[in-house]
Amino acid sequence: MKKADKQHSLSKSDFIAKMPLACSDETAAVEFLEAQRWGETPACVKCGSVEVYKMADAKTGERSKRYLWRCRDCKEQYTVRIGTVYEESRIPLKTWCFAFWRAATSKKGVSALEISRQCQISYKSALFLMNRIRFAMAPDAAAPKLAGEIEADELYVGGKPRWGKDYGSLGRSNKRLKTPVFCAVERSGQKRSRVVADVTGKTLKTAIQELVDQQSRVMTDENPAYVGLRARFEGGHETVRHTIKEYARGDVNTNTVESSFALVRRGIHGIYHNVSREHLQRYLWQFDFLWNGRTLNDGERTIAVIKGSEGKRLMYKQPA
Ligand SMILES: [Zn+2]
Repeated sequence: MKKADKQHSLSKSDFIAKMPLACSDETAAVEFLEAQRWGETPACVKCGSVEVYKMADAKTGERSKRYLWRCRDCKEQYTVRIGTVYEESRIPLKTWCFAFWRAATSKKGVSALEISRQCQISYKSALFLMNRIRFAMAPDAAAPKLAGEIEADELYVGGKPRWGKDYGSLGRSNKRLKTPVFCAVERSGQKRSRVVADVTGKTLKTAIQELVDQQSRVMTDENPAYVGLRARFEGGHETVRHTIKEYARGDVNTNTVESSFALVRRGIHGIYHNVSREHLQRYLWQFDFLWNGRTLNDGERTIAVIKGSEGKRLMYKQPA
């Protein structure tokens, strides 16, 4: 049995030529997504064979209206939707293409309300679609840990507590008011953010060890929760003391992570107003995705979300 070669990509001019059409014509959308997924060699989603063909309508001889494929080897019938975040959706794929494009190319992210208006679909459908697109933006489970020079910090969505007064009680009495987010950023590299249950040393140290390679050099503020990191990272752990108005010492600072927080805050307050704790992680995936893809062009970023939409359907669940 012949198997498909996974390597394929789309040039910038190809993308600009094809994307607007894929957003307005269903057949073009299906073929665009098929090309992104399978390239020149479409393969069976069940057995991997390339002995597959597009099913035709018996009367007209044209491609079946459901855009079915069939495998000669295992007889499986399927469409490009199978195994993707759009599998369980009845929304046309041209609408999905438009939403992938908008979500990947608007600097602050795009809201469900905007998609609802622009695509003339209900707010409920737009929310379903955007939730899954944000999930497609989540980092791959197999993605390598962050490495090198790392800045880490916490962000409080719903307002930052004041030092001293609120800090000690956060995670207990203020839990319902402010959702803590832990974030680690490679300087001039990738970023990962995660909603955390509380800001205790145990929780934050677990988060940083799960996200950051242990050979890294870590920089944080003087939050006592980070005491003990020095022993866990081979590159060491250094702190800036914000309480005494120290913002940098040599190359030790947390400016990168703080500027990334400014974007998240502006994005959340400007577009989404209030994001509940339950939904926050998906917005963080979106902001991280846009930050991480800041050096890509619009086409490359759109393709990256489309690629991320595959193989995630079964894992889809509400973030805790
Ligand atoms: Zn097959």
